[in-house]
Amino acid sequence: MTFMTENSALLSPAAYVEAVTTAVAASAAYYGDGTTPLGDDEYDGLLRAIAAYEEAHPDEVLAESPTGKVAGGAAQGDVPHSVPMLSLDNVFDADELAEWAAGLERRLGRPVAAWCVEPKLDGLAIAARYRGGRLVQVLTRGDGLAGEDITHAADAVLGLPPVLTEPIDVELRGEVLLTTAQFEEANRIRLAHEATPFAHPRSGAAGTLRAKDRPYRIELTFFAYSAIGLDDLGHVALLERLAALGANTAASTAAAPMRCETVEQVQERIDVIAGLRTELPFGIDGVVVKADTAEDQRQAGNGSRAPRWAVARKLAAEHKVTRLLAVEWNVGRTGIIAPRAVLEPVVIDGVTVTYATLHNPSDITRRGLMIGDQVFVYRAGDVIPRVEAPLADQRTGAESPIVFPEACPRCGDAIDTSEQRWRCVRGRSCQAVASVIYAAGRDQLDIEGLGGTRAIQLVEAGLVKDIADLFTLTREQLLGLERMGETSTTNLLAAIETARGAALSRVFCALGVRGTGRTMSRRIAAHFGSMAAIRAADADTLAGVDGIGTEKARVIAAELLELAPLLDRLQAQQVGTQVTEPQKPAADASDGEDDSAGGPLAGQAVVVTGSMTGPLAVLSRNEMNELIERAGGKASSSVSKRTTLVVAGEKAGSKRTKAEELGIRILDPEEFAALVAGLLPTT
Ligand SMILES: [Zn+2]
Repeated sequence: MTFMTENSALLSPAAYVEAVTTAVAASAAYYGDGTTPLGDDEYDGLLRAIAAYEEAHPDEVLAESPTGKVAGGAAQGDVPHSVPMLSLDNVFDADELAEWAAGLERRLGRPVAAWCVEPKLDGLAIAARYRGGRLVQVLTRGDGLAGEDITHAADAVLGLPPVLTEPIDVELRGEVLLTTAQFEEANRIRLAHEATPFAHPRSGAAGTLRAKDRPYRIELTFFAYSAIGLDDLGHVALLERLAALGANTAASTAAAPMRCETVEQVQERIDVIAGLRTELPFGIDGVVVKADTAEDQRQAGNGSRAPRWAVARKLAAEHKVTRLLAVEWNVGRTGIIAPRAVLEPVVIDGVTVTYATLHNPSDITRRGLMIGDQVFVYRAGDVIPRVEAPLADQRTGAESPIVFPEACPRCGDAIDTSEQRWRCVRGRSCQAVASVIYAAGRDQLDIEGLGGTRAIQLVEAGLVKDIADLFTLTREQLLGLERMGETSTTNLLAAIETARGAALSRVFCALGVRGTGRTMSRRIAAHFGSMAAIRAADADTLAGVDGIGTEKARVIAAELLELAPLLDRLQAQQVGTQVTEPQKPAADASDGEDDSAGGPLAGQAVVVTGSMTGPLAVLSRNEMNELIERAGGKASSSVSKRTTLVVAGEKAGSKRTKAEELGIRILDPEEFAALVAGLLPTT
């Protein structure tokens, strides 16, 4: 608050407005709940500075100035609007619009002389007060009757001139928003200051207008569309006048306001603007239709909330076109098998969408989707993005049909397709079957004779709920099962007995801990040497294992905690406790997975930041880290002196800056993809 230290000097116009606001707020707080953000001396100093300014500029005195008022005008906490700031009624389709237009013409008793059609900007309405052509105060809409003083934010708003081209008294009204470019820049700046990126341009604009004392500046844009004090102008003429005064208007955009003679022309113009929506450099959430002439507007008048001569034709929620890259089939906890679309990443309404729901198989069939299709993706508010229709006329012939699974992708058993939502016939026990089959696999416990059918049988009979139960199976129990003879029972029990003595790395791998495959299991086993040591490790200790970044370490630590009861029972069965692990990861030629000691990132400590593009765009951050580990590097989440390589994608912020300061090698996603090309997952 600069005016405090220079209260003998004359305030600038903006500082005057701020001083008035501060004084009003302080006295409101003081006379309200007895608190005050200012000391008495400071408050008095503030009042003196305000009075001095008003003496020198008697024609700029604000109505809410505390000077000469009882209690400093504390009765009003918010700043009243000169004329209420109304909102607009909405219509949602062409019929409703036609109905609204007909209603207006009935009220007028004649056709509307002309219409004006303009984009409905997705920002915040403000009122900007000018005295003698100088900007003196900016208010939010507030409750329509009184708003919040946000004059402090005016400097960062493009298109809202501090001085008009004419020295007139006028109040401009319009919308403040972040354009798409400003939104991206704002998030770049925020990331660089370790602030959370804005989720959406509108909330970003709202937060920016209110914020004070931010250590950085975020630019916004103003579009004027109304004014108090420029009466008797039709709407299109008013917009021209606003532009002539130096204010920004939508006239400079592809969706420029346009006069229309008939409702049919209005509908056509709406369609044009709606079609331009994705190309506009800012977000719109509808199209505004107004009776254009001042005479029509006056005669129609205003309702209590909205003018009767204007309406917002809301546009359907946001759609974007992107490519359907693949369909994943995920099995939920209850055995529901749900398709999920993997998309070429696309930003919808400020949010990057990579996955979208496809609901169920019949939905896919109904929409006729194919892999490789250009598809409409819908996202509005917080709903889960969903794939709508394919753009069938844009097919190139390279598209391929979506393959529906014939067996449960997790346990391999049959799928119940009698309902729209497919479900593994195992239901909830699908998970148990799958984990037993995985644990018995050749690269884990290698229990011959425990394939899909047998695992299902054991789970169904209630003999096995997890892998520890395998080691308590008795001959009698197994002989009691169908198609289980003496020989197979003997063989299975022998295989299980052998598995009891399996190497630690195999037992660990059999647990199916998220983020650990064969290679990682070998490294963990070699690093710790015993299951007890692994269990005693916290995330930090786990991160000391070659190739485990902090992110993966956290996941593994959490999983181990969850598996504690199972691990207790395995220990009681002396599983994985009999063979000591060699303390160096041995090359395992029989293992199909290449141990990456000599990979392209051998010896490198790698940090990934920003959004990945190109071939890496489909990878989650965890998948990126796995890729780094596959390539022999160590992934970690923070840049330090030990970091040797930073992969910096779009919107990379403070980590990139730090890497630059430390002189660490920086690659963009494309360069990095080329470096690890042979190890990229194939799609
Ligand atoms: Zn299943």
